[in-house]
Amino acid sequence: MARYAVEGGALGRLLEGQDRSAYRELWSEYASIAPPATRRLLVEFDLFEPLDDTTGYVSRAAGGGVVLAIGVGDTNPIDRVDTMVHESMHVISLAASQIDQGVPEVRCPLYFERDYGCPRAGSILDGWERRFWLGPLLEEWRKRTREGQIDRFYREHQTLFVREYAATSPDEDIAETFAAWVLDRPRLSSAVRAKEGYLQTRPELIEFKAYSRSHGPSEVFKA
Ligand SMILES: [Zn+2]
Repeated sequence: MARYAVEGGALGRLLEGQDRSAYRELWSEYASIAPPATRRLLVEFDLFEPLDDTTGYVSRAAGGGVVLAIGVGDTNPIDRVDTMVHESMHVISLAASQIDQGVPEVRCPLYFERDYGCPRAGSILDGWERRFWLGPLLEEWRKRTREGQIDRFYREHQTLFVREYAATSPDEDIAETFAAWVLDRPRLSSAVRAKEGYLQTRPELIEFKAYSRSHGPSEVFKA
């Protein structure tokens, strides 16, 4: 529907489609939730008409910058913010500084991010996967994924996850947990609280949450 350049963390020129005030308002809402350090990772902000239940996604541009795409028409502010925070975790954790594109899948001990590469040592996903996924759980997840039985994997490990979509992959797990943490949803289990404890060890994520809660829409972030 529309593609905008993002320059220095601010919305830039229209690259394709129609310039609409509703699209600019979505960017303004995003800019009230994501701090400048996160927005500066972006090279493009896209708007699309959702055809299924996909409400947002990220991809990597040729030069290494990240493209954020947000679905239009979601009128529930809490759902919209949830999507924006979730996608922000992908923006942060899939940025070029976090993922090594030069490592082939066979040499990646962690979950290999298709189209991106292998999490670098010390990256957000490296710490996340080593703490919460590496070992039998990751092997079982790989097996269930091959079998198309990811719903069964979730049922058998429900207490590990903040909600069902989190069991889709390690990077969806961190994105869903991040959204629940930023939005201060009730912690469901000690395993989820341990995952939130990890998020609290990363200064860039603490900064994100503080920024969202002080600048984000007040109907979502009640005092
Ligand atoms: Zn996601």
